[in-house]
Amino acid sequence: MESSDVIVIGLGSMGGAACNALAERGYRTIGIEAFQPGHDQGSAHGGTRIIRQSYFEDPAYVPLLRSAYDGFRKLEQESGRDLMQLCGGIYIGDPNNTIFAGSRDAAIEHHLPHEILNAAEIRERFPTMNPADDAMAVYEQNAGYVRPEETTLANAEVAARKGAILRTGERVTEWHATAGGGVEVTTSAGTYGADKLVIAPGAWAPVLLRSLELPLSIERMVFHWFTPDSSAVPIEYWDESRHPVYIEETHANEQIYGFPMTDGPDGGFKLGFFRVGSVTTADTIDREVTDAENERMLIRARELFPHLGLPVVQAKTCLYSVTPDEHFVIGLHPEHSQVAIGCGFSGHGFKFVPVVGEILADLAAHGTTAHPIDLFDPQRPVLAATAA
Ligand SMILES: Cc1cc2nc3c(=O)[nH]c(=O)nc-3n(C[C@H](O)[C@H](O)[C@H](O)COP(=O)(O)OP(=O)(O)OC[C@H]3O[C@@H](n4cnc5c(N)ncnc54)[C@H](O)[C@@H]3O)c2cc1C
Repeated sequence: MESSDVIVIGLGSMGGAACNALAERGYRTIGIEAFQPGHDQGSAHGGTRIIRQSYFEDPAYVPLLRSAYDGFRKLEQESGRDLMQLCGGIYIGDPNNTIFAGSRDAAIEHHLPHEILNAAEIRERFPTMNPADDAMAVYEQNAGYVRPEETTLANAEVAARKGAILRTGERVTEWHATAGGGVEVTTSAGTYGADKLVIAPGAWAPVLLRSLELPLSIERMVFHWFTPDSSAVPIEYWDESRHPVYIEETHANEQIYGFPMTDGPDGGFKLGFFRVGSVTTADTIDREVTDAENERMLIRARELFPHLGLPVVQAKTCLYSVTPDEHFVIGLHPEHSQVAIGCGFSGHGFKFVPVVGEILADLAAHGTTAHPIDLFDPQRPVLAATAA
């Protein structure tokens, strides 16, 4: 049986970063991944993810984001890949709703540079947008996007360079704690042993962490790339050189988010709904996107972007793993202190990848971390109270 100090199950967003962090610290690390790093079957594909710091979900995330920004820059240097582009971000909503007011409050509490814009100012500054007359926005210069596939590949490459052994195309079928306080992991290809284990299975958490009965909702999401009408608004206004990433929800019209054109005029203008989708599982998700779904998205998108249109450049499905309070699950396994778990990233985890990798490495190595993770306790009441 091949053995190591630590095994990491799942070399996706978080597991890939954990594997890299552990290898950097000199631990003999084996990373096991069912597919190939950068694949499109989980939660880490589609070209772009928003990264921002004025965090309306809870200001407690802001210190983690500061570390994550540093981590992305470090990974860029180590891998030679372009991972993070700060083209600005705008968060538009009713004056009292979470998106606007929460972003503003987080920015003020953490002294983050930002501007407040009213509807007329948004239209003047960003001619692609026509928000409701009473909408307000926080504009944050230090926001933009990161590249999920590139990041995941970068973590795998850099981890391997630092000595991690990567077993890809190998699915974990079972893991258990051993009598001696270690772990044993069985895959489609063999069995491995280690002192410690990190489990970061994304939308497969209900399978690999079944005994915890976490109340995770695995949700099918779609992102769509549409075509801007450049006769109405010149194409350069849709491009990342002039256009920010955005989140908008006004008059309870269902939250949308998206990106400027990041891959030239042929790449399209990408957007999606936040949590408007169906409950599914990672193994049974329907990956076909229907014309009706494209149409519904375009109708909603045009409330903010009246000059967005057809054809649909592409549309893809992706998986959210959502907790009841939409906060992450990061901590030690409640029954096995040699096992660290990270899951339930609730559709907003990617921007934290480098710092979550460090946290999971801390937990595996020392059983604790200096990063603030109380919000993510696997045993917090909302998870226990609603356990499936
Ligand atoms: C449509 C969409 C849009 C999003 N937009 C944003 C955004 O703008 N900003 C943001 O910050 N976040 C965003 N997110 C969320 C973010 O992408 C996720 O929170 C993050 O990718 C989750 O990472 P993960 O490591 O948990 O899952 P994954 O990256 O999917 O990794 C899990 C890995 O575990 C592997 N695995 C599972 N089971 C096994 C097994 N038995 N054996 C071996 N390997 C296994 C899987 O193959 C996979 O590679 C979005 C997500 C989606 C779906």
